[in-house]
Amino acid sequence: MAALLVFATTLLVTLSTLSVAERDMKSVIGGQQYTLLSGAASFMDDRLAARRAQVEALAGAIPAALRTDWAGLQPFLERQTRLWEADEYLNIVVFDGAGEMQLSLQPLPGLKTLNARGRDYFDRALATGKGVISRPIRSRLTNNLIVVISAPVTDEAGKVVAVLTGSVDLRGSGFLRQVSTLKPGKTGYLFLMTSDGVLIDHPDASRLFQHVGQRPGINLGTERALAGFEGWLEARSKDGSDAIYAYKRLRTTGWILAARYPSAEAFAPLEAMRRNAFFSAGALALAAGLLAWAVVYRLLGPLHDLRENVAAIRLDGAGIDVLRDGGKDEIGELARAFHALMAEREHAEYERAASERRLRTITDNLPVLISYIDLEQRFRFGNATFEKWFGVTPDTLVGMSLAELLGAQAAAEIGPHLAQAFSGEAVTHEVSLALRGENRILQATYIPDHQPGDGVAGVYSLVHDMTHVKEVEEQLLQLARIDSLTGIANRRMFGETLHHALDRARRSGKPLALAYLDIDHFKKINDTYGHGVGDEVLKEFAHRLCAGVRATDTPARLSGDEFVVILEEIGSRAEAERIAAKIVDGMRVPFITSAGPVRVSTSVGVALSQPRQAQEALLVAADSALYAAKGQGRNGYVFFEG
Ligand code: GH3
Ligand code: MG
Repeated sequence: MAALLVFATTLLVTLSTLSVAERDMKSVIGGQQYTLLSGAASFMDDRLAARRAQVEALAGAIPAALRTDWAGLQPFLERQTRLWEADEYLNIVVFDGAGEMQLSLQPLPGLKTLNARGRDYFDRALATGKGVISRPIRSRLTNNLIVVISAPVTDEAGKVVAVLTGSVDLRGSGFLRQVSTLKPGKTGYLFLMTSDGVLIDHPDASRLFQHVGQRPGINLGTERALAGFEGWLEARSKDGSDAIYAYKRLRTTGWILAARYPSAEAFAPLEAMRRNAFFSAGALALAAGLLAWAVVYRLLGPLHDLRENVAAIRLDGAGIDVLRDGGKDEIGELARAFHALMAEREHAEYERAASERRLRTITDNLPVLISYIDLEQRFRFGNATFEKWFGVTPDTLVGMSLAELLGAQAAAEIGPHLAQAFSGEAVTHEVSLALRGENRILQATYIPDHQPGDGVAGVYSLVHDMTHVKEVEEQLLQLARIDSLTGIANRRMFGETLHHALDRARRSGKPLALAYLDIDHFKKINDTYGHGVGDEVLKEFAHRLCAGVRATDTPARLSGDEFVVILEEIGSRAEAERIAAKIVDGMRVPFITSAGPVRVSTSVGVALSQPRQAQEALLVAADSALYAAKGQGRNGYVFFEG
């Protein structure tokens, strides 16, 4: 592009300079042409005026006596004209006032009479009383082109009595010959025509006395000259060639002296100059263009390298260090700036990837489902736990819908919670799902992804498997109601069970009995065998207690060596006492412990529930009966009596 621009500019400048030079040169040539022509016209004017003055002077010099004395006039005229140069006039002829030729200095063969009336040189001389130069005419003597210069001869009264004429050979007298030496160039020529366009002088002799427009036609310049134009112009002649035409009118006759200078010749040097200029400008432009191309190529070289390097880094994974090796110029600086930018980006990318890897590792190793769900309820991200729980890899998960992963029913169940999250609320809910044939209780938490300006773009989902926790919770709840040493109900469970049992007793109308037990002298067992054996005794005691009552009855350990048994649907006091006796009997068999057999006995207080009796009251009743049993020497039971 640079080369082309330089080339075009150089050519343009050269051509426009040439065109200006041509215009100036044309103007110079044209002006010159016109100046020369004006000189020639002036020369002809002077010559013609001089002849006219000469003829006038001759006419004026004729003595009065000879003015109509034709026989006497002839020798006078011969005398007068003898001094004149031989070729100045072809002939001197005198006409009388009526136009009849009276004398001729040269013999006119075959011509006896001649009447000039009607000829312009006679009529005008007669009319104006002044010398006249005629239109060009052919000489009778020589058949040459002549003009007749006439001067009136007047008497004392001023009346024209004769007209003296001198005929001048236009070619012979050197008029035109001298002028024609001024012809422009080799192929240019001068031509002369009358004011109405009849050619008087022309290099083509056959055109003489013809109108200028007759053949090959009239050109624009000549047309304008006939209308009065004087000066120079460039016009196209009828034969199609361009020429510089110059026109100048003669003062004396009104004839038009013209010059034609063919443009081809006039501008031949210019043409040569144009060719030379064109070629040298072309060569210069080519050289400048090539130089410009070379410079631009050299300047753009590093840019080209930079582009290649960047492409290699992008496409072939080449290292970015090559960008640091640029030169000290702007492109080198640009490359280093690229290097800095890319290094920063690489570092940022490395950091991001590392951070993502860390997060991945964390999320993948957490025993929870972590995912991102988009507005179409499709997964965009999921951790490795999905593979463990559902057999779906994180990659496969991306793009899956909830229904595709969990089935339509589970998806429908989750749907409303997820919709709530999409509306912008954080949501936590539990759902039970069959995972690999096992029923699992899952807790899902949805956190909406609020995008500034865009509302909720998706939802982060965190799902825990709560099954185990639930089981433990259940166990804990259970544990809280069971005595850890003996494995039977504790005070809390006893409280609950008694509450329900009393309700049932109230509904059924059948009372229940409450047996309150305390091991006798338990402290002594502890003291004798140690606390461990004491515990063994407590366990065995609970065991025997369970074995001694019905399955529907509830034994419980309240604290230390205190136990109770809720005996439901007891029909009578006797039945309650029978069971109490059975318990007391059951403990009499020695307890087998790690320290050997130990004798254990128990005291029991029994109370029957009363309709609308408070739980506490029944317990106090049984306790007081126990107190009584202890008081009665232990190892027995006492029935509480109102
Ligand atoms: P009494 O016949 O009047 O009931 O006399 P006792 O020695 O049994 O007296 P009491 O019932 O007041 O004593 C209960 C003792 O039980 C007191 C305490 O050291 C002991 N004890 C409480 N809890 C435990 C336990 O979990 N394990 C063992 N080995 N001993 C316990
Ligand atoms: Mg005791």
